[in-house]
Amino acid sequence: MTTYLFNPPAVQSLPIRGKTERFPINRIFCVGRNYHAHAVEMGRPVDKTVEQAFYFTKSPQTLVESGATVTYPPRTNNYHFEMELVLAIGKEGFRVSEANAHELVYGYGAGLDMTRRDLQLVARDKGRPWDTGKDIEQGSVCSEIVPMPGVVIENGTIALEVNGVTKQSSNVDKLIWNIREIIADLSTYYHLQPGDLIYTGTPEGVGAVVSGDQITGRVEGVAELSLTIGAAE
Ligand code: MN
Repeated sequence: MTTYLFNPPAVQSLPIRGKTERFPINRIFCVGRNYHAHAVEMGRPVDKTVEQAFYFTKSPQTLVESGATVTYPPRTNNYHFEMELVLAIGKEGFRVSEANAHELVYGYGAGLDMTRRDLQLVARDKGRPWDTGKDIEQGSVCSEIVPMPGVVIENGTIALEVNGVTKQSSNVDKLIWNIREIIADLSTYYHLQPGDLIYTGTPEGVGAVVSGDQITGRVEGVAELSLTIGAAE
């Protein structure tokens, strides 16, 4: 039996609707600029005919469940919400075709890709990595995982409110790279594994929250989420 100098970090996991087992998290991938109107509001419009999808990762340790109260993070004055459809991978796959991509789908959740926008934009404009802007403690929020094995979601309202006021409202049919395309393309870079989460990108309307704010969001046909922004440490 292996012994460790100290206790290894716990496996991160999410509840699964209708099951007692939890969904163990392997990796968290995020798709950048995957709705045209959001790409435009970021000043970086996307031309799919000449550009490829791009990705960044967040540590599994950044994950918190819907319903949590999180600490307002250090080193930012512009902490943004990004409401996203989250894809949960249930089978391994490498160089998967778009036609077979549905075989990797375990289910979906509703998520928040929380972002230190001030740090992300400095990094972007200086050509630096995005890690401190994106890989934020308590900065990856997800609802329960809803089992929908083999299902490819093609439409449904995606919306977010802060303190009851609508900030984001769109439809996942506006994804630039859709679920099949994301799985096929990401699997050319990585051997996708059960437990991988893919945050599929956010629509327009992103904005800042402050301590005391209440975020609620939903993806039609999948799940709802909520998050409370607590005080800074
Ligand atoms: Mn995002």
